[in-house]
Amino acid sequence: MAPTTMKAFMQIEKEGLDNFVLKEVPTPQPAADQVLIQVRAAALNPVDLKRGHLNEEYPIVVGYDVAGIVVAIGEAVQNVSVGDRVFGDIMRDSMGSKFSGTVAEYCVSPADLVFPIPDNTTFEQAAALPVAALTAIQCFEYCSCKEGDNVFISGGAGGVGIHALQIAKHVFKAGSVATTASSAKFDFVRQYGADVIVDYRNEDVAQKLKGWADVVLDCVGDVEAAQQVVKPDGKMSTIVDGSSSSFQMLKPTNALMQKLASLLEEGKVSTVIDTVYPLDQAQEALKNLAGGRAKGKFVITVS
Ligand code: NDP
Repeated sequence: MAPTTMKAFMQIEKEGLDNFVLKEVPTPQPAADQVLIQVRAAALNPVDLKRGHLNEEYPIVVGYDVAGIVVAIGEAVQNVSVGDRVFGDIMRDSMGSKFSGTVAEYCVSPADLVFPIPDNTTFEQAAALPVAALTAIQCFEYCSCKEGDNVFISGGAGGVGIHALQIAKHVFKAGSVATTASSAKFDFVRQYGADVIVDYRNEDVAQKLKGWADVVLDCVGDVEAAQQVVKPDGKMSTIVDGSSSSFQMLKPTNALMQKLASLLEEGKVSTVIDTVYPLDQAQEALKNLAGGRAKGKFVITVS
């Protein structure tokens, strides 16, 4: 039985890093189609810093990515059982429910968005993946990415970028993958699949890769450069600039999560973690994420 209250990392007001604090709140209860997860690890994402724009009611629990153990299930749930090690992205339900973020001791999730964690994968590794990897898969599908394509991913060292490089290369079988990074991160992005690397601080990517890409995934919000890099008959997506017609907002679905779970099981995508923090240092982790220099993901462990 889960306790009636739990520790949770909460956003208590709209703006400002000081408004993120650890609090004791009621443990959420699973609805008929939900599971209650004892959180073992959760990952942070830049969207955790942007929810002030989403007109949510405060306080809210931070976080969408989760890995943990199922401790209770709603009466309609059939795909998972109590005791299962699972991971997922709870985005669909957390938007409307104040106490169901993942950076907490417990969270609820739609049952169809959680999948078993393979035996060879840790909670930290599983928690780091969903938002980043699902976003990449959704965008490459949107762009009809196919074998042999030239794929350009801006911001290859970040949480989305470093997983997108691998997914472009090993899942969509891109012919060549190009990215932007600062020079100190060249070896890092090369290690995860970048064939062509542009030092965005000293070179003009639009000029260097003009008309090169069949598919573009913009992870930094430079839509103008992305438009120059994509071929006239290619396709681009941006995950940052909401005013662009190419904007993609992640919509986690059972089908997308199923694909990710299979990739993890088959070893086609490896989790890249920058730093792991305990729950009581979540605010420091969020401050580091806000600095914008992440190499992969920031993960919070909860025990
Ligand atoms: P991160 O904070 O992990 O990205 C940090 C990385 O970005 C650093 O390695 C940094 O490298 C690099 N970077 C920063 N500016 C540039 C630049 N101009 N050119 C190239 N690299 C740069 O962020 P995420 O990868 O997690 O997310 C990226 C963006 O995507 C965020 O704005 C996020 O909100 C958004 N997003 C949107 C989603 C959607 O559904 N629409 C889903 C997921 C994310 P360096 O130190 O070398 O500068």
